[in-house]
Parts: sequence; structure tokens; C-alpha cells
Amino acid sequence: MLSQPKPRCAHCGDFLPFWPSRAIASICPRCSRPLALVPASISVARFRIFSVLHAAKIVLLPVVGGAIVAFGLARMTPSAFAYTVALVLLAWGVIDVWDGTAGLESGIDKRGRSIYTGKPARRLSVAKTIFGAASLALGAAGLILIG
Ligand SMILES: [Zn+2]
Repeated sequence: MLSQPKPRCAHCGDFLPFWPSRAIASICPRCSRPLALVPASISVARFRIFSVLHAAKIVLLPVVGGAIVAFGLARMTPSAFAYTVALVLLAWGVIDVWDGTAGLESGIDKRGRSIYTGKPARRLSVAKTIFGAASLALGAAGLILIG
């Protein structure tokens, strides 16, 4: 029989008591962050657990980079550039508000590689929620102004 390492949360690093069978996504019972499975091997059924919020933020970086480069090379109209930036701001806002409210709910937050609990975590979560809401408002205002 194969022994598998116990699954750990990709956000808080805590051991997960179970992973719902056949589910590709789940929520960490300790930190309330969304987690998803990605195949770690082509030949064997092995999976890695990753943090959905962290991955979504990283995926958006090349979008912003690409838009800036395309705009710089005059391959993009100013309104298309503004539209892209507004959409990314909206997406980042949703991610930050989700991360912040999950942190407020669970009392656990992460910044870089450090995990915070209690008061520092709450302060970080409030900051993330406010920053996310501001990002959402800015993105929405941008979309309204572009029309
Ligand atoms: Zn967790």
C-alpha cells in the first residue's frame, strides 16, 4: 500500500483533516481560504494543493505587464488600456476583499511567508479588505468613466 503524506493547506500550512472525494476545490477549515488541486505528475495520479487566491493574483500579473507593454508600443488604444486596468483592479479588489474577510472570519492571515494570528492578523485582514474595497471602487469608477 502506498503511504501518502497528509495534505496541508497551501495558505496556512495546517494539516487538512480530509479532502472531499473527487473534489478539485475545497475550503481550508482553519483559515477559510479556497484551495484547489493541480496534477503534479502526468504518469501517476498525484496532485498538489494550491491557494486559489494566491494563484489568481499571480495569473493577473502578466495581464497587467502585457497591457503596459502593448500600450507602450502603441499597439493598444488608451481606452482599451484603461478598460484592461479597470478589469484587473476589479479582479484584484475581489481577491483582496475575499482574502481579507476570510482572514477576519478565521483570525489567520498571511503576508509573504509569515503566518499571523490574533490581533496582527485582524489588522492585516482589515487593511486587505479596505484596500480591496478601494481597488473595487477604483475599477468600477474606471469602467463607468470609460463607458
Ligand atoms: Zn488554511
